[in-house]
Amino acid sequence: MPHRRTFPCGHRGLGQYCHLCRDIELKRKQSEEKKLARKERADQIGSHVKKLSSHILDKAATALSQLNENNVKDLTVKTVAQEYTSVALNRNYRLVLDSRGESKGVMNHRRYDKLLRKARRKKEKAA
Ligand SMILES: [Zn+2]
Repeated sequence: MPHRRTFPCGHRGLGQYCHLCRDIELKRKQSEEKKLARKERADQIGSHVKKLSSHILDKAATALSQLNENNVKDLTVKTVAQEYTSVALNRNYRLVLDSRGESKGVMNHRRYDKLLRKARRKKEKAA
């Protein structure tokens, strides 16, 4: 009969260390790595993305790299207000880039409309 022992953590089990605690630690590390990866993507895409689902964030990151590689054939890309590039991500969100190709962030309809209104006003002033 293998001998079950009590580890310093209080769990009981076989072997040199507590497998239960190791699994918990592994899971914690994995979720930390995921969080970090998500933050990196969010930083790349720009502000206002904290509340977005990972799915939309993934789509935006993919769209951004596709644009950088000039590989836009599966993207719905539109030029708006003569200076912005808008990429549809789904029915509610789009990724917007400025004329230099810098991300302005992922936008819902409200934020996008605001951006367009501002751009229009700027043009009216300049005219
Ligand atoms: Zn343990």
